[in-house]
Amino acid sequence: PSFFIGSSVIPIINKLQDIFAPLGDIDDRLTGLRLPQVAVIGSQSSGKSSVLEALVGRDFLPRGSDICTRRPLVLQLEKRSAGIGNDSLEWGEFAHLPEKRFYDFSAIRREILAETEKEVGVNKGVSDKQIRLKICSPNVLNITLVDLPGITKVPVGDQPSDIEARIRNMIMSYIKQENSIILAVSPANADLANSDALQMAKQVDPTGTRTIGVITKLDIMDKGTNARNFLLGKVIPLRLGYIGVVNRSQEDINNNRPIREALAYEEQFFRDYHVYRGLSDRCGIPQLAKKLNQILEQHIRNVLPTLKTDLTSHLVAVEKELRAYGEALESKGERGAMLLNILTKYSEAFSSEVDGKSQAMTTK
Ligand code: GDP
Ligand code: MG
Repeated sequence: PSFFIGSSVIPIINKLQDIFAPLGDIDDRLTGLRLPQVAVIGSQSSGKSSVLEALVGRDFLPRGSDICTRRPLVLQLEKRSAGIGNDSLEWGEFAHLPEKRFYDFSAIRREILAETEKEVGVNKGVSDKQIRLKICSPNVLNITLVDLPGITKVPVGDQPSDIEARIRNMIMSYIKQENSIILAVSPANADLANSDALQMAKQVDPTGTRTIGVITKLDIMDKGTNARNFLLGKVIPLRLGYIGVVNRSQEDINNNRPIREALAYEEQFFRDYHVYRGLSDRCGIPQLAKKLNQILEQHIRNVLPTLKTDLTSHLVAVEKELRAYGEALESKGERGAMLLNILTKYSEAFSSEVDGKSQAMTTK
């Protein structure tokens, strides 16, 4: 059960991406087609990998009380069906192992660990060299998530003495990009007001337009304390707000507790725990997914007018190119005509989407 579905405009972007993908790099002319990248940041063991897994709905990331994520993991979710009769099939593909499909998600975790060790050894070393993993599934939308090593203060194992600065620089290089959404993860069993994640996010996004605060470990707070005021934004205000979550504990991980069960437990937790009553829109992984979807949708609506212009000029260019080929290159011409057809169709679809939108705005 992945949460990245159910929006109205996101499928349009997905279809457009599908059409442009075989034509090569779309980045130059149609930047609007690039959805924002979501980067997960926070101190070590704050629960970053756990949050990502819960969002994707599959078990495949190394997690634990030690430093587990030691290289940036760029996770491209790609909406794709495996073919007739196989529609529930999901698989992973690594950039460093092209052509090899992983249907077993625990094998994906083993490969991430092996590839990490290959680069930085077995003794806690860290590198900014990415591991790129594509997850293909009919249940996701085309978006990129980045799991990053956690902020750590004291060097251990093979870590250099400037480990903290190195990791901070690595994180910075991802979150300073204006097109990235920051999931700032802070564990509720530590001092939230001193959160590394929120402090770093503030540096690159001072007005808080692309930072979502995620508070993990609500289940293991000190007796008599709770995160209610924090979730309400009364301690450190964030424009996009906070979501509190309960992930699997280390014991759950050791016992291979399935994600589905963990999500049911989380739901029960928020139902039972009185202090979080009335905050249901700020509690739970499904709410985090919903918030992310809303942000992505808003982003798409913002870029739609530009995208429409870009598409139109692209169309003109293709037409011109087509005319230059003349009748001689019939098969290529036919291909071009087909492309033209598709582009026209989508350009029309976009016109109505944009017009409908502006109409809706003016009637309000
Ligand atoms: P990361 O280093 O930030 O990626 O953190 P991980 O996702 O690897 O989690 C670190 C440890 O904290 C693991 O043992 C998880 O089981 C545990 N953990 C993460 N989130 C929660 C939570 O919400 N509640 C509890 N009880 N444990 C959690
Ligand atoms: Mg991690």
